[in-house]
Amino acid sequence: MSQNIVVSLCCFVNILLIMIVYFCKQRIKNQENDIYSLMIVINFFNVLVEILSYLLLQVGVSYESFIYSVFMKIILLLYSSWIILFSLYMYTISIKNNKNNRINRAKKISIILFVILSIIIIFGTLKYKITAGLYIPMGLSTYIVYFQAAVSDLFILVLLFLNHKNLFSKKYIPLLTLFTVGILVIFIQMQFPQYFLITPLLVLTTFIMFFTIENPDVKMIEQLNIAKSQAEKANNAKTDFLSNMSHEIRTPLNAIDGFSQLILEEDDINVIKDEARDIITASQNLLEIVNGILDISKIEANKLEIVNTEYEPSKIFDELVKLTKARIGDKPLEFRVSIDKDIPDYLNGDYVRVKQIVLNLLTNAVKYTKEGFVELKVNTVKKDGVCRLIISVKDSGIGIKKENIDKLFTKFERFDLEKNMTIEGTGLGLAITKKLVDLMHGSIVVDSIYGKGSTFTVAIDQKIVNKEKKDEVKEEIKVPKSIVVKGKKVLIVDDNLINLKVAARLLSTYKVATEEVASGFDCLKKIEEGNSYDLILMDDMMPKMSGVETFKKLQEMDGFNTPVIALTANAIAGMKEKYLNEGFNDYISKPIDKKELERVLKTYLNAK
Ligand code: ADP
Repeated sequence: MSQNIVVSLCCFVNILLIMIVYFCKQRIKNQENDIYSLMIVINFFNVLVEILSYLLLQVGVSYESFIYSVFMKIILLLYSSWIILFSLYMYTISIKNNKNNRINRAKKISIILFVILSIIIIFGTLKYKITAGLYIPMGLSTYIVYFQAAVSDLFILVLLFLNHKNLFSKKYIPLLTLFTVGILVIFIQMQFPQYFLITPLLVLTTFIMFFTIENPDVKMIEQLNIAKSQAEKANNAKTDFLSNMSHEIRTPLNAIDGFSQLILEEDDINVIKDEARDIITASQNLLEIVNGILDISKIEANKLEIVNTEYEPSKIFDELVKLTKARIGDKPLEFRVSIDKDIPDYLNGDYVRVKQIVLNLLTNAVKYTKEGFVELKVNTVKKDGVCRLIISVKDSGIGIKKENIDKLFTKFERFDLEKNMTIEGTGLGLAITKKLVDLMHGSIVVDSIYGKGSTFTVAIDQKIVNKEKKDEVKEEIKVPKSIVVKGKKVLIVDDNLINLKVAARLLSTYKVATEEVASGFDCLKKIEEGNSYDLILMDDMMPKMSGVETFKKLQEMDGFNTPVIALTANAIAGMKEKYLNEGFNDYISKPIDKKELERVLKTYLNAK
């Protein structure tokens, strides 16, 4: 008897723990969980009543007493309901596609069965057979539970037979345990009837079910749902981005195409020049858009890097002022500039990105201001060899609504679209600006009154470089205004005929003789035929034989020592390094920048 109490107490602790863990954990709502919750509760009361009944016997209550037989009948009722629930559970997991209507029907049948069985157990007889001092429960109330267990086993065996393919799936482990351990229990009880092991068997089965039940972690599901909705949002943003981009790209393309056609039909040289200027502006816009896309993709790939070099800040701000004046054009805008006179002559930092940040802000100020003013103010605070540049860009433009200020630095966000229909933009500028400021460990703040204007203030620390300022006048004399290269020949290799034409035309302005070939093979052929050149401009992305492959082959040729410049439209980060590492003498990105071309001509053709 005492051993039975110990076993029951162990079962009690076990089922209590299962109950706490199971009910504290978030669960998904499904049929399996509904049934399992009931099974745990029934198991818990089962063990509890069993312990109480042992205690009753301990205090002298007899087996035949009314109170003890009530406890016994409650235990039988709980057994009976556990068996019904277990059968229902097996039926639920055996049904394909979890058809709810069939499960609901089975539930109704289970309730009817439970009522009938309960009536039989409550009103049935309960007697005891005494063998070797042990009280073995007998009578209708007991037999009906044995009978129910046998029928239920048969029912489950049929289910198993019908689902034999899934027999070894995780969900059937509790059943297999119940059958195998059940057989063991029968043998033990036949040998040692004093041990009562049915309750531990049911608790063990319930315990195993805890691990096999269909209950994916709800938190995980929530996280998956969040990830899914984020992916959907990102996808939508991409679609919006593509449609926005296609519009943004088509606008300058339309100008380039339209004006080019007009030039073909125009005879007046002044009109032609005007139209050519418009083409240049449109292509610069296009280039800005492409650069913005590249920057954003670099930001997303975490590849945007800050490259610090020495620079003259006053020169950068002068350039910015010139560029902004050009942008303002005929707009009725007063451009106010105030740059701290004490700004150091030389700073160390990424001047390209500093320029990009301020230019973005100035461009926006000009774009979103119809009339009034745009103001650029640069103040400095110097301490311990570091100069804090405090740059503010103020305008009297349309301003930004308070609720939009937080979203300002999010990519693709544009506001007041109805109002700004005619203003071109991608919603990338400020996202890139913010990222650049962050990378420089600086800060950016916005102050805006809707309808009145905005002020963007950026603070960036740059190291001060202490050295004598170069003589401006001398340097200006050093840089010739236009260069001429005579008696030199350049070979241009590019599969794209338009690109060949553009490069040749650009070089012709410097009086350089050119030859053009449309593939790596033709380039190799020219050299093999004994043609010699002073410089080769080599496109990389060519079909069949790339520029790099052609270059490698050229190097294998005896006596080949012509400088080769990589010429590519693939302007992503690290391209220059990549081509220099391959052995190219230099790198120019397309579209070709005149200044870059002149630098190359000066370096490799001794242009003067
Ligand atoms: P874009 O100008 O290409 O649309 P930005 O990222 O530079 O993209 O700016 C995002 C949005 O912030 C703009 O579309 C505009 O609605 C708003 N914005 C930016 N600068 C200003 C400004 N100076 N005045 C008013 N609105 C601005």
